Amino acid sequence: MGKIIAVANQKGGVGKTTTAVNLAASLAATKRKVLLIDLDPQGNATMASGVDKYEVHATCYELLVEEKSVQEVMVEETSGLYHLISANTDVTAAEIKLMEVFAREQRLKVALAPVKDYYDFIIIDCPPSLNMLTVNAMTAADSVLVPMQCEYYALEGLTALMDTISKLTAVVNDKLHIEGILRTMYDPRNRLANDVSEQLKRHFGDKVYRTVIPRNVRLAEAPSFGAPAMYYDKSSTGAKAYLALAGEIIRKSEQAKKDQATAQPAV
Ligand code: ADP
Ligand code: MG
Repeated sequence: MGKIIAVANQKGGVGKTTTAVNLAASLAATKRKVLLIDLDPQGNATMASGVDKYEVHATCYELLVEEKSVQEVMVEETSGLYHLISANTDVTAAEIKLMEVFAREQRLKVALAPVKDYYDFIIIDCPPSLNMLTVNAMTAADSVLVPMQCEYYALEGLTALMDTISKLTAVVNDKLHIEGILRTMYDPRNRLANDVSEQLKRHFGDKVYRTVIPRNVRLAEAPSFGAPAMYYDKSSTGAKAYLALAGEIIRKSEQAKKDQATAQPAV
């Protein structure tokens, strides 16, 4: 059964899109079937996957508003390794149109239900706000991956996000949980970053991924080449870090499946 992970943080520029794209590529490199959904009208995950957001035949607008199927709206990312549902400025209209429809927060969940078992992982790149698109992502998702930069105000933002997640859990998705907190753009020489990182570990324990994403110029350059970092420069520290993250996520979800199996009484 596939796992749906929303990559979310209401703050912009923390590495959501970089994480969504490079995690999708790294999971696909381990032979998992992956669908990446760009839910941000900026379309950065679309462009970083090598797909021109102005040339696509459909986006998540058609999926959410016109109720088209995943097969109808998706594109195969140019390297063919993962499937992509793209976004561009059309998606801004989706946010407004969704306000008028019945069960508006359920649209993505309903759209993904028929393909959930086909994919091993569905990764959703969320916009940098807690709007109806993000609520759709969190309603559809099994878990939320939170990328964050270890800086002074980061913990405050994280508390606000955790609060939203627990409210949504009570209302629209009672199985939603934190997949993990990912430290991004990390510079170990920065004392503040180390302090914040220690506080994070104290507060959130093993919810903080052991994998740390370093600040790495290759990760910033790769989108302009329209390729995840592992295709652009697979020996870069950034590409290796995202491969390690994929490994950590796969191990965690396999362990969780085992725990679930042993917890069930034998019949
Ligand atoms: P978000 O989606 O949260 O707004 P992005 O993934 O777009 O964040 O990242 C913001 C900027 O930082 C982008 O220019 C991106 O290329 C750059 N960036 C992200 N992660 C790293 C990293 N680990 N090292 C260097 N630059 C990074
Ligand atoms: Mg983004």
